[in-house]
Amino acid sequence: MHGDELNGVEIIRRLINQKNFKLTKGTLIAVPMVNVYGVVNQSRYMPDRRDLNRCFPGSAKGSLAGRVAYTFLNQIVKHCDYGIDLHTGAIHRSNLPQIRADLSDAETKELAQAFGVPVILNSNIIDGSLREAAERHKTKVLLYEAGEALRFDEFSILAGIKGITNVLQHLGMMRKSSSRKKAITPFVANGSQWLRANASGVVNNHFQLGDQIKKGDTLANIGNPYGDIIDSVIASRAGILIGQQNIPLVQEGEAMFHVAYFSEDDEDIAEEIENAQDTLLPVTDV
Ligand SMILES: [Zn+2]
Repeated sequence: MHGDELNGVEIIRRLINQKNFKLTKGTLIAVPMVNVYGVVNQSRYMPDRRDLNRCFPGSAKGSLAGRVAYTFLNQIVKHCDYGIDLHTGAIHRSNLPQIRADLSDAETKELAQAFGVPVILNSNIIDGSLREAAERHKTKVLLYEAGEALRFDEFSILAGIKGITNVLQHLGMMRKSSSRKKAITPFVANGSQWLRANASGVVNNHFQLGDQIKKGDTLANIGNPYGDIIDSVIASRAGILIGQQNIPLVQEGEAMFHVAYFSEDDEDIAEEIENAQDTLLPVTDV
């Protein structure tokens, strides 16, 4: 959807070129790029500086972004029963592979669970988004968020390919594979929050995506260039780290850590995330 979010392009490229990729039922429309202008310019936005995912349903006589939204909605989305919208974090921000969806809809929730990533977030529908327009046409949409803009992230790509395959199998469009690998148990978050910097400076980060966080943990120290610690980012609640900024410099007020909160034991969730990484990523010699 967004022009600088490239993991989705690679997910589709690899998915449809898999040797054993075969649909037994239905039609899959694979759209590797929606904002093609953005991909060419390495930008999230359209050339008219609009965010395409705020321009739906668009109109045939509207702005450039509005026209692209209108065409995509009417020529592609409207004809689909289901959709998976592929995204990544922003520039210099990484997301743990996660599904965001309207979980108040039972069928959407079922699909979200079938996708099979460890973390699911219930997410409100944004005005002007593809999801909002699609749901008006009774198309159920999952949003997959994984990795960072302008980068390929192997775990995000592999989890995306596996997730789409899982959904196609769940819908009876693909034969189930005879893999003996254990399926990933998804956990639905009760909520999430961005922790922000209360000082500007150099960042020493103590946590990685997928880590369990305990209340009171120091997620990062913010210091001056001479080594004095000016401030620390402290976890106000226990949870799992699902998003973070990657630049080791921060300005006061910037969002640094995205933490999701669960009813289940965080230790089990962190373990399931590790399982997912071990299952998907090829073993490398150390
Ligand atoms: Zn996006």
